[in-house]
Amino acid sequence: MKNIFHFVDGKEFKGDSKRTSDVFNPATGEVEAKVSLASKNDVDIAVKNANEAFKEWSLTPPITRARILFKYKELIEKNSDELTKLIVAEHGKVYDDAKGSLTRGLEVVEFACGIPHLLKGEFTENVGKGVDSWSMRQPLGVCAGITPFNFPAMVPMWMFPMAIACGNTFILKPSEKDPSCPLMLAQLLKEAGLPDGVLNVINGDKESVDALLEHKDVSAISFVGSTGIAKYIYENAAKNEKRVQALGGAKNHCVVMPDSDLDQAVNGLMGAAYGSAGERCMAQSVAVAVGNIGDELVKRLSEKVEALKVGPGMDKGSEMGPLVTKEHLEKVKGYVDLGVEEGAKLVVDGRNLKLQGYENGFYIGGCLFDHVKEDMRIYKEEIFGPVLSVVRVEDFNTAVDLVNNHEYGNGTSIFTRDGDSARTFASKIKVGMVGVNIPIPVPMAFHSFGGWKRSLFGDQHMHGPEGVRFYTKLKTITSRWPSGIKDNPEFIMPTMK
Ligand code: NAD
Repeated sequence: MKNIFHFVDGKEFKGDSKRTSDVFNPATGEVEAKVSLASKNDVDIAVKNANEAFKEWSLTPPITRARILFKYKELIEKNSDELTKLIVAEHGKVYDDAKGSLTRGLEVVEFACGIPHLLKGEFTENVGKGVDSWSMRQPLGVCAGITPFNFPAMVPMWMFPMAIACGNTFILKPSEKDPSCPLMLAQLLKEAGLPDGVLNVINGDKESVDALLEHKDVSAISFVGSTGIAKYIYENAAKNEKRVQALGGAKNHCVVMPDSDLDQAVNGLMGAAYGSAGERCMAQSVAVAVGNIGDELVKRLSEKVEALKVGPGMDKGSEMGPLVTKEHLEKVKGYVDLGVEEGAKLVVDGRNLKLQGYENGFYIGGCLFDHVKEDMRIYKEEIFGPVLSVVRVEDFNTAVDLVNNHEYGNGTSIFTRDGDSARTFASKIKVGMVGVNIPIPVPMAFHSFGGWKRSLFGDQHMHGPEGVRFYTKLKTITSRWPSGIKDNPEFIMPTMK
């Protein structure tokens, strides 16, 4: 049995904890490894190393940091097949999808390569007579990132390339369900020339998260995961005087207007609802059928959901892989049972799918509900599986109200050929990321990623310009070099005449 530990000070670190967690291959249901769950003491050692490394790293010129990231980009490209296979082996998603998610993470590295430009400050000559003022952004110190299972490469890469480019050191606490890819990402950054201690990986559960939240030498916490834990992180990081951004769960609505190109809408919805088995925070889990489009939409969707090819992530023919664990599979099936009890119409039932040769894998077929109502739990709660709910509404305004009244506000999209509806939707909708005829509107690395309402606690989104703001603090300097002037004491607030 393979044992997985931590990565501290540029090398494997075993720590003193005896607690472990099983790492499964979701395609077969087999336990493939045991990952160590760090103790508070293990976290202390990682923070101590990161704090020590910060002294030099924060003084390293941004151009030197950028050169390491350029080299890192090359190494990720060279090792992309191996990294992708690690994602597939522990998460279960299909190979091409896993590769795509790695590329989206790599794009943040590419963006972070521009850090010498991104850190340029602002300067004003003569804010007063002979007085100049400038602002600059400086690193925070040791930053920590706590990440979910569904993107073991991309979500950590929203964080650490930005944090270290800005001159911070970093402790990554990835999901204990798929720890191997994050460890390899850290190893490659060392190979790219990153000094030891700048990026550390601590595997663990609540004990290590709490140790990071309480540690006096951790300056900032970035979190991505479910809303309940995001709120806990937000509250406790703030209580311990840390900067925090905590991204939570989602229930994303795709509004299908009667004038839409229905083939585009259906294909968009299929990928967005069932890609990665629905285990994406940007998955579209609610299709809002406006006006008379409902019957045709459900008919076309059901044909495609029935035809979905479910199988192991490494099989070329698979469109959808298994769920991450048996526990999660049971939870998703439980929601489908609940939807039936609540009175929604189950048009396609994927609960009984069995794959020959993979009987113990964590598979479920695509599920499609019609006539889902606002007060049903399957509408209100995040299922995080391949379950699409169709809600029928009379008109555009009702669709907008439906989206705006939901507690989550991560992503949404509208399919329409009408510019007025699209523009009004983009303007009025209370959601952080909006697509117009784009089913999964994930912003590119040079924009920023984040939701509204209970999908994000905190002020700043991830990566892009917001990432630079989050991982730096602003300092403004006002200076003058008077010669031959004798100042008298001034007791009034200085103003410019
Ligand atoms: P999760 O909340 O269970 O776990 C996320 C992280 O928190 C993991 O590292 C985990 O070890 C840690 N954790 C779990 N329980 C904890 C506790 N009690 N105390 C402290 N730390 C704890 O989430 P998950 O199941 O790994 O991921 C799926 C969730 O993440 C979904 O809700 C999904 O919507 C969300 N997500 C959101 C985004 C976004 O950008 N908003 C992106 C990806 C995933």
